[in-house]
Amino acid sequence: MITAVTAIMLVGITSFNQINITKKSLIVLDIDETTLQFPLINEKWWKTTIAYYKTIYNCNHDTANGHAYQDWLRHVTETNPSHTDSVGLNQLFTKAYKTDSDIIFLTARFPDTIHITKNHIDYLGITDIPIWFTGGESKGKHLKTIHTNIFNHHDNIILVDDMDHNLHSVKNTIFDNDANVYCYKFLHDVVREKVFY
Ligand SMILES: [Mg+2]
Repeated sequence: MITAVTAIMLVGITSFNQINITKKSLIVLDIDETTLQFPLINEKWWKTTIAYYKTIYNCNHDTANGHAYQDWLRHVTETNPSHTDSVGLNQLFTKAYKTDSDIIFLTARFPDTIHITKNHIDYLGITDIPIWFTGGESKGKHLKTIHTNIFNHHDNIILVDDMDHNLHSVKNTIFDNDANVYCYKFLHDVVREKVFY
């Protein structure tokens, strides 16, 4: 008896052109600090801002994170994003087309940011890519639902994300039909197209 072996992989990349795509893949892109970026916002900004609110309000992580999220929301409402890797992203789109693959965005943003998120994506000239919002919940859980209900004929799932907890949540998810899971950590602080500070 032959048992199917599911491939699970996690590697770091500095450009989208380092992603290997085999036929009929579901390519899942994170938005913030992966596909696009805003001045001054990175993992360090989140950590510093959350620590700041914990100190001044003497509150727990979740509450401080909520305050930081409001600051972030104001910032991204007033500011235009830029690409992290426009050349690599175009190459990825071409490869996806040639391999009959599908691309979706999966973001931890909340669903009520749909208009502003669409504006951000439009601003960068990206069109026709559906967006799913997890509202801070597990990307693995959401992606399993998306794969089961819409893309379950895809044997390969390719996630690109800058956050370890998202990569691990997807890497540890068992998908229908033993789909292979390839997780790429987008090293945003290394690949930033424009240096803001
Ligand atoms: Mg991100």
